[in-house]
Amino acid sequence: ALEVKDVHRRYHLAGHELHVLKGISLRVEPGEKVFLCGASGSGKTTLLYILGGLERPTEGDVYMSGQPMYAASKNKRAQMRNTGLGFVFQNYHLLPELTALENVMLPSLIKGKPTESRAKELLGRVGLGQRLDHLPTELSGGEQQRVALARSLINDPPILLADEPTGNLDAATGKQIMDLLFEIVSESKKTLVVVTHDATLAERGDRKLVIKQGQLEGGIDLGKS
Ligand code: ATP
Repeated sequence: ALEVKDVHRRYHLAGHELHVLKGISLRVEPGEKVFLCGASGSGKTTLLYILGGLERPTEGDVYMSGQPMYAASKNKRAQMRNTGLGFVFQNYHLLPELTALENVMLPSLIKGKPTESRAKELLGRVGLGQRLDHLPTELSGGEQQRVALARSLINDPPILLADEPTGNLDAATGKQIMDLLFEIVSESKKTLVVVTHDATLAERGDRKLVIKQGQLEGGIDLGKS
């Protein structure tokens, strides 16, 4: 399971403290699809980044299969991230000078096990088998997000984290991307955590968690059981 235990995040701005997350605890079981909702500025992205080992909480920790991420060394945390997690961002975060194929391969290069054939297979899976050599600027937003989705899967992580993955797309394209994401996650039995402020989108998940004033609505989330 993926667990968050009593996580706080405070920011200090010009002598003023902003207490964004005020003791968040939650548990996501393998294979669950969970949506994280809340008003703008409620701390959804902050919590997702903390979940992904990308931003250290001020207090508390995140546990992947019982292993703490932030009590671990920086190298260990990077390793947990590279093997355990895939990321999809609102703005795709593709490297502009790399082709679609190279972008998808990148996390496997970082892991030290480059795999071109798997990258081609994944681009085929997201419907871009004919666009391998295109640069991000030669692709539409929806196509760029498909590349980003293929990239998130290259190391076959058990968990995918997505931050407003359809936020920059029109409704029809956004639905296609969300359908594809759900299909892939379901067929490979991955865990999915999606941040969105779109309440209708969130209804598609197994569970919806809402952040309000720095805390989860309903208090500590003990998981589905
Ligand atoms: P949105 O839906 O608008 O993207 P969100 O719920 O994802 O919002 P966050 O991006 O997590 O919210 O931000 C929560 C709060 O923390 C905001 O008030 C933001 O300004 C603040 N914040 C986030 N990152 C930092 C930072 N690095 N330094 C200072 N304040 C920050």
